[in-house]
Amino acid sequence: MNYDRTYNFSAGPATMPEPVLEEIRDEMMNYQGSGMCVMEMSHRSKEFIKIASEAEQDLRDLMQIPDNYKVLFIQGGATLQFSMIPMNLTKYGKAVYIETGAWSKKAIAEAKKEGEVIVAASSKDKNYSYIPDCSDLDIPEDTDYVYICENETIHGLTYSTLPNTKGHVLVSDQSSMFLSRPCNVSDYGLIYAGVQKNVGPAGMVIVIIRENLIRDDLTNLPSYLQYKIHADNDSMYNTPNCWAIYVCGKVFKYLKSLGGLEAMAAINEDKAKVLYDFLDSSAMFHGTVEKKDRSLMNVPFVTGDADLDAKVVAYTKAAGFDNLKGHRSVGGLRASIYNAMPKEGVEALVDCLKRFENEYHG
Ligand SMILES: *Cc1c(COP(=O)(O)O)cnc(C)c1O
Repeated sequence: MNYDRTYNFSAGPATMPEPVLEEIRDEMMNYQGSGMCVMEMSHRSKEFIKIASEAEQDLRDLMQIPDNYKVLFIQGGATLQFSMIPMNLTKYGKAVYIETGAWSKKAIAEAKKEGEVIVAASSKDKNYSYIPDCSDLDIPEDTDYVYICENETIHGLTYSTLPNTKGHVLVSDQSSMFLSRPCNVSDYGLIYAGVQKNVGPAGMVIVIIRENLIRDDLTNLPSYLQYKIHADNDSMYNTPNCWAIYVCGKVFKYLKSLGGLEAMAAINEDKAKVLYDFLDSSAMFHGTVEKKDRSLMNVPFVTGDADLDAKVVAYTKAAGFDNLKGHRSVGGLRASIYNAMPKEGVEALVDCLKRFENEYHG
């Protein structure tokens, strides 16, 4: 069916899989004989409890999450985790952070309000265009955790190997790469992801935390900020973001039907290659990130001339491609090509950029 949709390259909230949107449309007025929309349902109803527990189970299946990890659905987006993580995980008062771009910088700023932050490696010297070597970091013995932003949404970089934490707990912000490829959960103490990048609607974060990191001695923290409260109440201490849980659950089932995360990784690599191959061969456009650290999800690129960049953005917009303007802090262009962006969308974009290049030179 033709809905007259554009190819939406937004970094988030971002494009959704059309089969999921169609299912939601079909269930809008009467969810599976319940006589109501999920939006209208009590979070304590048996229908909704089933939706939430299936969503959790499907996520566990997709990521093969071990039994000693809790899955939490929390509100406040990924941003609240910048504070909840240091508030809940700081015992000795020291945390090591790797600074690779805008989102790790924000996390560092919040963590500094809670304790001592050691920035053990940074790529600030080259405007966050690479992942620093994290194979032999200087990590004090009494460090509570090592923190990374595993995919920097704005600067467009990702880790090809995880840092050597020397036995310390690894914490990862996976917001813009969540479920884009297989992930060995046991490598981490805590993984979290705001869902509006690669999974569902805005307003919820998924936290996957090893049980032994959930402390019960933090009763002075506001209840909502304690992982223990969320874990003990199956993420229903208060009314959860029911709509987001419902939609994410649909996306999990959809990803399973495509073959799971191995299949997603192959699809994403194939898709990103179309764009990176073009950028590597173009005389006008080039990527801004070192090849080994390029994100498969967020692809920043420039012409080298800000006025020309703006012309390209207007040209692509007129041709039906949305949200290609780079983040205001970086400039240029950025194509976010999450799980739900079809390869045809990327191919069509490349054709459009080639046309621009030809017309400009012609
Ligand atoms: C978008 C984003 C965030 C912030 O998410 P909110 O849900 O807006 O709080 C944090 N980290 C990364 C990597 C992001 O891409």
